[in-house]
Amino acid sequence: MCSPKIMQLVNEKIRKQGQSNHVSRRNFLKVGAAAAAGLMVPHAATTIKASSLFRQDMMGEIVDLSHVFGAGIPTYSPGEDPVSETVVTVEENGFYIQKWTLFEHAGTHMDAPAHFAADGETVDNLDPSQFLAPAVVIDISAKAAEDDDAMLTVEDIEAWEAENGEIPAGALVCMYSGWDERWSDMEAFRNADADGVQHYPGFGGDAANFLLENRDIVGIGVDTLSLDIGASTTFDVHLSVLPAGKYGLENLANLGQLVGQSATVMVGIPRYEAGSGGPCRVLAMM
Ligand SMILES: [Zn+2]
Repeated sequence: MCSPKIMQLVNEKIRKQGQSNHVSRRNFLKVGAAAAAGLMVPHAATTIKASSLFRQDMMGEIVDLSHVFGAGIPTYSPGEDPVSETVVTVEENGFYIQKWTLFEHAGTHMDAPAHFAADGETVDNLDPSQFLAPAVVIDISAKAAEDDDAMLTVEDIEAWEAENGEIPAGALVCMYSGWDERWSDMEAFRNADADGVQHYPGFGGDAANFLLENRDIVGIGVDTLSLDIGASTTFDVHLSVLPAGKYGLENLANLGQLVGQSATVMVGIPRYEAGSGGPCRVLAMM
């Protein structure tokens, strides 16, 4: 996109219009982006306006639903947090690179169908149209504040629909429990008891089945370590949602900002070969 040929074309176009024959790099990037997108029109001012349309008018405010990925983050099993090592630095080598060692299910991440289904799709083969979805955020933070084992139930879904209408087709349905506020405290986030059993909110099995049977969803998301409640030993939600070809998102952040709002979620999941899931960047466009 940034080839000298395109830059020359843009310069010629503007010169013909009797305007400055100098294109700054900044303006060139704007104009060049519009040209590359097939939006080049004979008036430079209109071209720049068109390129700004991509950000403001089409996307609106963006909320980052991802936690920072790094050492010391809470993980489902202790000791599975990512490790990074500095390989080269700008000061010593002229450029900077880290090497990461990580588990696929660390940080804000996706559970692909293959995580719980032998014939389920892996990350690299998921249909990318599933990665853009209307967000439905169901707020159970009030009961989660009283009960660490709180579940998102069918009644919670019905209460949300009574206020907002039926869950739209292709939605990503997320549980907001407020648990993301504990993220910086690994112990509090895992909230394990003396027997090692974790206690935090999640979807109830009935709620997951209701969504699978009665609504058209691409997946579900939670702001805790697991789609099921932490104390689950049967993993009913994982075992129904993932084999149904839907995906899960765990350890989401900032879902509270989406409560009562209309938003589109974009799941930026790298195409990990044969991935059972993996760390991803999740953005909500309000
Ligand atoms: Zn996972």
